Amino acid sequence: MSWRGLASIAVLGMAACWSSEPEPEAVDQRPNVVLITLDTTRADRLGSYGYDGGQTDTLDALASAGRRYEQAYSVLPLTIPAHASLFTGLYPPHHTIRSNGGGVLQPEFTTLAEVLAGNGWRTAASVAAFVTTPVWGFDQGFDVFMAEGIGGSSNLWHGERPAQVVVDDVLRWKQGQSSTDPLFVWVHLFDAHLPYRAPEPYTTAMPDRPYDAELAYIDDQVARLVEAFGVDDTVFVIVGDHGEGLGEHGESTHGLYTYNSTQHVPYIVSGAGVQPSVVSTPTSVVDVAPTLLHLLGLPPLEGVDGAVVPGASRPLYMESWQLAERFGLAPHQTLVDGDYVFIEQPRPELYNVRSDPSQQHNLAQADPVRVAEMRQALAALGMSEPTVATGVADPELSLQLELLGYVQGSAANADLADRPDAKDHQALLDGMMRVPQLAESGDHAGALVLLTELAGGYPTLIDIQLRRYRTLRELGDTAGAVDQLHAIRETFPDSVAGRHAEAASLMATGEFSAASALYVQLAAEMPYHPNLRSRAVWALMQQEGPPEQALALGLSMLEQTPEDTAVSALVGLMLMHRGDPEAAAPYLDRGCDADRPLRTVCQHVGVRAQLSGDAERARTRLDRELRFHPTNDAALRAMQVLLSDEKDWTLLIVAVERLLLLRGDSAVLRHAQAQALFNLEDFAASRVALDKGLALQPEWSALLLLDANLLAKEGQMVLAQERFEQATTARTAEDAAP
Ligand SMILES: [Zn+2]
Repeated sequence: MSWRGLASIAVLGMAACWSSEPEPEAVDQRPNVVLITLDTTRADRLGSYGYDGGQTDTLDALASAGRRYEQAYSVLPLTIPAHASLFTGLYPPHHTIRSNGGGVLQPEFTTLAEVLAGNGWRTAASVAAFVTTPVWGFDQGFDVFMAEGIGGSSNLWHGERPAQVVVDDVLRWKQGQSSTDPLFVWVHLFDAHLPYRAPEPYTTAMPDRPYDAELAYIDDQVARLVEAFGVDDTVFVIVGDHGEGLGEHGESTHGLYTYNSTQHVPYIVSGAGVQPSVVSTPTSVVDVAPTLLHLLGLPPLEGVDGAVVPGASRPLYMESWQLAERFGLAPHQTLVDGDYVFIEQPRPELYNVRSDPSQQHNLAQADPVRVAEMRQALAALGMSEPTVATGVADPELSLQLELLGYVQGSAANADLADRPDAKDHQALLDGMMRVPQLAESGDHAGALVLLTELAGGYPTLIDIQLRRYRTLRELGDTAGAVDQLHAIRETFPDSVAGRHAEAASLMATGEFSAASALYVQLAAEMPYHPNLRSRAVWALMQQEGPPEQALALGLSMLEQTPEDTAVSALVGLMLMHRGDPEAAAPYLDRGCDADRPLRTVCQHVGVRAQLSGDAERARTRLDRELRFHPTNDAALRAMQVLLSDEKDWTLLIVAVERLLLLRGDSAVLRHAQAQALFNLEDFAASRVALDKGLALQPEWSALLLLDANLLAKEGQMVLAQERFEQATTARTAEDAAP
């Protein structure tokens, strides 16, 4: 069936309601499978789930032509645990990842991808965010894992690949497949996650609804996948990992609670042989893998929590521990049974989500019998409380997580039953959610007032103290920040985050030697830590004068830990700076192989390869530099020179398009794009790109010169001559400028 055929089925509206009988037949043969996880996507923002303010035509057409699950729930409103449940069919207590960074999916668990790979599917993943990278064990079962470019941001957790890049990678991989084996692709799209900044034309089309604009953008990217794979021999599985608060229950994003706003997700199975239907039986992301395997006629995952749905209705489990870990409050442990959702709290909550989907009316007092039954059923599931994050593979991450307040909850380990009800601490929760928003809008003074007030009421929450320290620094109140640091040290002497903040503070006040010493001390305590050594070296590099001390420290560290690519990169850069590229080369080579190479490291390697005539290596290294550091114009120029030498204009255009996505519009990029198109003699497209560049920087000689050439090609000789003279004048002025 063609994509248009699918759309026409949607128009016919052949949906039927499922009873709770098991799936009657599996799909024939071995279809391709495209699993699309929509991060941070609320079910009720899709047209097929009743929303009329959005633009989700592709997803809606897939829903109409296939199977739409009305009541699908996440297990936990955070990406890593939710995806771990999706791939294993296990609830978080059973795969043991209960928070972002709270563990890595261990190899002993069997994943959906492993089962498919074991049964002859070629497997690939293309993901959009750090939280779905192999760092967390999500590469199990995948032949190919595409995540390049996520590390570009200075804060790993903010790294993101736009949907278009994620889908580009999939389509390129698909093109390279020549065997007749079926394909399994996992596509993770992160755009609906904060910040809501959809590309054009989506933002302009929905100026007041940035979240909907992101979904519209995602929808068009899903359409590219549907078009490339076709619906005849491909099963599309589309599921949200969790939703987004969007202000409901006082929660703007996700992670704290288990209300429908963050738990009710879209879940659609469509394509090859899947009959149209609407499934009303409640289902969970743990059911996705068992249901898909059943559909494909493959053996089930043994001993998992998930089940084939539609099938017998059963109670579903959900949880969220941030209330406990960050704030010492009672966590959410939640049971879904039919239309009812029960949330365990000192004052429990009960909702009928069919009649009250936004959960405004707590029925617990009115229906004590159901509360007692559901409480008992929840207890009978025997879901334990998480232990403090163990198994975090990368201590750098655990440090970042501690700083974020995810791990090592500062909260006292009170018994669950003794913990206060979240509903009684709304001011704390509202305040801690408002602080990042105030910071984002630049109102650090407002954030400080709020934090000081909160710290008075909650003196043992390190989260508040660390945020207060960072806010004081933002405000430039160095003395106040130092006082706050001392207070943290006194109250929380063992906190790595506290000492780390102190080292950062020493850096900020220019006490580089002391900062380096503290980093060296932390590195000695945690030799497995990947970044502390390089920070110690980096601190010494900030000192005046030649970097002899830093170089000596770096070299001695490399004797102990030669695998430290970050230190290797710094040593390489110092040797480069000293004018010794020969000595620098091996250190830079190793530095460029780092998971996240430092800025300019791969550029140096690439340029060196270019000079020695190894164009292929030059290309891959420069490409790597630009993926991680898309704003490095020197690397872009080197790439331009290289690809121009090779006359590889098409590749240059692809590179520039990627950069436009990653860093936004710029005259430099438009010039490169227009020049490459000009060389390909696509003058019309070159004109479009050039005009965009001229709109951004109308006086730049390079653009004016290209404009002159283009005008000549367009037959406008008089204008061309005029523009050429303008370009010459501009060039003279540019050369004269300091
Ligand atoms: Zn997520």
